[in-house]
Amino acid sequence: MLKAYKFRLYPTAEQKALIENHIGSCRFVYNWALDKKIRTYEQTEKSINHFDLDELLPALKKEKTFLKETNAQSLQGMTKHVDSAFKRFFREKNGFPNFKSKKNPIQSFPVPQHYIIDFENGTVKLPKIGKVKAILHRHFEGILKTSTVSRSCTGKYYISILVEDEKEPTEKLSFSKSTTIGIDVGIKDFVVLSTGEKVENPKYLKNSLQRMKILQKRLSRKVKGSKNRDKARLQLSKIHETINNQRNNFQHQLSLRLISENQAIALETLNVKGMIKNHCLAQCISDAGWSSFVTKLEYKAELLGKTILRIGRFEPSSKLCNVCGYHNSNLTLKDREWICPDCKTKHDRDINAAINIKKFSLQNQNLIVI
Ligand SMILES: [Zn+2]
Repeated sequence: MLKAYKFRLYPTAEQKALIENHIGSCRFVYNWALDKKIRTYEQTEKSINHFDLDELLPALKKEKTFLKETNAQSLQGMTKHVDSAFKRFFREKNGFPNFKSKKNPIQSFPVPQHYIIDFENGTVKLPKIGKVKAILHRHFEGILKTSTVSRSCTGKYYISILVEDEKEPTEKLSFSKSTTIGIDVGIKDFVVLSTGEKVENPKYLKNSLQRMKILQKRLSRKVKGSKNRDKARLQLSKIHETINNQRNNFQHQLSLRLISENQAIALETLNVKGMIKNHCLAQCISDAGWSSFVTKLEYKAELLGKTILRIGRFEPSSKLCNVCGYHNSNLTLKDREWICPDCKTKHDRDINAAINIKKFSLQNQNLIVI
């Protein structure tokens, strides 16, 4: 199985300059490759792939000599990135690939091979950059796949490494109605469970989100181009980073708990993009970071042999009475509670939805439910 590890890097001033050169050169090659691909298509209606682009790299290096200082494999990694950006575009219809900007908050470059992790001395040796000090807080064994070096918006450096540990995925454990849990995204809560439990965002995270709003307001009042504005922007970046870490920790704990306590987890495939267009939901959904939570559930399920069940997003999970099946077509987003006119059950909107998500997903499995 493939596993990802992320470590903080502490480059020297000299190494920082080399890393920055790599970031700049790789961005340059990405934009060059994207442009080349678009132009070739416009002129010849033919598509070129990363093999074709790699063949053009030596000529480009002769013209732009600064590229010679960069690890050649990192540059080739960028032509592959352009390929995958197009694949995603065609597969998910998810926006045409963009040119990379210097202003993106996270800047990175790939190191596909030939990097060396030294756990004993706490270093990562990167081609053309050398041995960089690193905090290697987790030990692992396996085959090193590709890695990515990145700089965060607050100027911290990291390396993310994919490792193939050559272990077979755990065999799936069987599940039944009583060992399956349905979960729904709450409007006010982070998740709502079919057991009736509601899990809110933790208080420390709410406090940070509050502080972020204050800092955002402060930034908007500063004069453009002023030093104070730069300061305010750095403060805002720092709080973003804190929020990210806090959210990740919270999501890791919650997903581990849900996966440990249940054999199967039922979810709704959400159209998050469609929901964000609905303004009053935008804040809740983007804050909740639902998709990153689902990713954590998925890989923990894979590790522990549990199952993730999904229902389509067009199934009316919140509008259907989970007791008698009555369809309440008048239910609006504002209605937090409703009483079924047929069986008189009083429903909490989100809990009713979570129960239905569990019900539908088990039906889709054609299980004999005991
Ligand atoms: Zn009913």
